[in-house]
Amino acid sequence: MIVAIDGPAGSGKSTVAKLVAQKLGFSYIDTGAMYRAVAYKLIKDKISVEDVSTVLDGLNLQFIEVDNQIRIILDGEDITDKIRTEQVGKVASQIATIPEVRKALVKLQRNMALQKENAVLEGRDIGTVVFPNADLKIFLTAQPEERARRRYIQLKEKGLAVSYEEILKMILNRDKNDTQRKEAPLKPSKDAIILDTTGKSIDEVVDFILEKAKKLKT
Ligand code: C5P
Repeated sequence: MIVAIDGPAGSGKSTVAKLVAQKLGFSYIDTGAMYRAVAYKLIKDKISVEDVSTVLDGLNLQFIEVDNQIRIILDGEDITDKIRTEQVGKVASQIATIPEVRKALVKLQRNMALQKENAVLEGRDIGTVVFPNADLKIFLTAQPEERARRRYIQLKEKGLAVSYEEILKMILNRDKNDTQRKEAPLKPSKDAIILDTTGKSIDEVVDFILEKAKKLKT
């Protein structure tokens, strides 16, 4: 079974998708982390966005499970926490507009998921492009201010110096990039269940999705 969870930045996708996967005993695949990993490499090696193809060919990216947590390894370096900055997110959304990048990463995502029996994939285009025949498609939304607030709390907890206004600005920018791009824009698939998570607790959202998944299983 493939469960697709799409939505904009800060909609709660990651937290929800991880919990849903855990409770169903499914594999969890974070596709945003792949775009972020490529972005991280560009920043680290001072490669311009235009030259991203030089990074795609030999992309040495692995997802490994350590103590029940997925760690993201790029060229042997654990980048799990390093890719969570707004700077990496911004470059990720820039390279995500490039068809060549999407083609390479979608291929990787499909291969990874098809190696698993059941998987929960989270991203922007899982229900529309990566797995248009996914068994269950959820599209999470929330007001930009609430999404910015969630990101702010998350980054603060990690000890990063951030400003709420700056995060809101970046979220709005990222929404614009993600929804207006030509290639695989962020939009709900016609058959997706749209869920506005504004004011809803994580448990409420997770339980809602689990209910839907369980109905499909039986
Ligand atoms: O989900 P996350 O914020 O980690 O994703 C980072 C960026 O990667 C997004 O803003 C989006 O531009 C891009 N992305 C995408 N398609 C996906 C997952 C992420 O375009 N399936």
